[in-house]
Amino acid sequence: MPSDGRFAPSLGGAGRFAPSPTGPLHLGNLRTALLAWLFARSAGAHFLLRIEDLDPGRSRREHEAGQLADLAALGLDWDGPVVRQSQRRERHRAALEALRASGRVYPCWCTRAEIREAASAPHGAGGAGSGAYPGTCRRLTAAQRAERERSGSPRALRLDAGGERIAFADRLHGTVEAAVDDLVLWRGDDTPAYNLAVVVDDADQRIGEVVRGDDLLDTTPRQLLLQRLLGLEQPAYAHVPLVLGPDGARLAKRHGAVTLADRAAHGEAPADVLAWMARSLGLARAGERVELPLLLERFDPDALPRAATTFRGSP
Ligand code: GLU
Repeated sequence: MPSDGRFAPSLGGAGRFAPSPTGPLHLGNLRTALLAWLFARSAGAHFLLRIEDLDPGRSRREHEAGQLADLAALGLDWDGPVVRQSQRRERHRAALEALRASGRVYPCWCTRAEIREAASAPHGAGGAGSGAYPGTCRRLTAAQRAERERSGSPRALRLDAGGERIAFADRLHGTVEAAVDDLVLWRGDDTPAYNLAVVVDDADQRIGEVVRGDDLLDTTPRQLLLQRLLGLEQPAYAHVPLVLGPDGARLAKRHGAVTLADRAAHGEAPADVLAWMARSLGLARAGERVELPLLLERFDPDALPRAATTFRGSP
């Protein structure tokens, strides 16, 4: 942890679950939701739901409704109204403008394929990890930039991260440190990028601890940099282990019967799925029926497994 004190977590705020409404929640998403709920409720904190519907092409109201119904079927409850990111565009834009005013924002015309290619070249990514942006458009001359502007092709806006290294203490992973690449703030389709929206929303919702899947561990240093540049308080973080399919990849629809509806078609009630999740987290014994109050009693963040769970097709 940096010793300048800027990264002190603001304990005592709310917890949250922030699904993207792009499909039904699967057992991995649901287990993360259960964990986020357990972290918040066991600390006596509020638990908020935020629908991350930034991607207009993939977000659907019917998925949102289905996700809320599935969380409720497991017995998870939340406080206050559900917030949709799409309704917070002005807050996201204000944050973009604040960063622009600091002179650290530049336009980028790179396609995904170009970024992949540049990043895979020797020394291309500047050591900021896989998928990191190598800074191509940061180095454009004024003339090159003007020419691209004239072309009218869509352009994203990126933050000049200055190659900063950021460290933070994760509740489950300990100290994590990474170089931050020039992340996207605003996408070419004129929507806010995930990292910008999430820090603005976590701050506005006074999230004290972010509990989410550990596939997002890599992007957290980007969010910490944005929080610092925007003068936002930093939440604490707990990145929890994922559920994997039998092939070792992150659980997904292609792995078969992985949603509550799929399990119901196999004759399994939400209580059966809850029992499986609890067992996989060391919170229940084989064959034991559990309810949320019992799980709350047993929940100990320090005793959580750190390794992913493989779902083999039946809870
Ligand atoms: N919306 C993201 C997802 O569904 C989660 C983002 C977060 O928890 O910060 O993967």
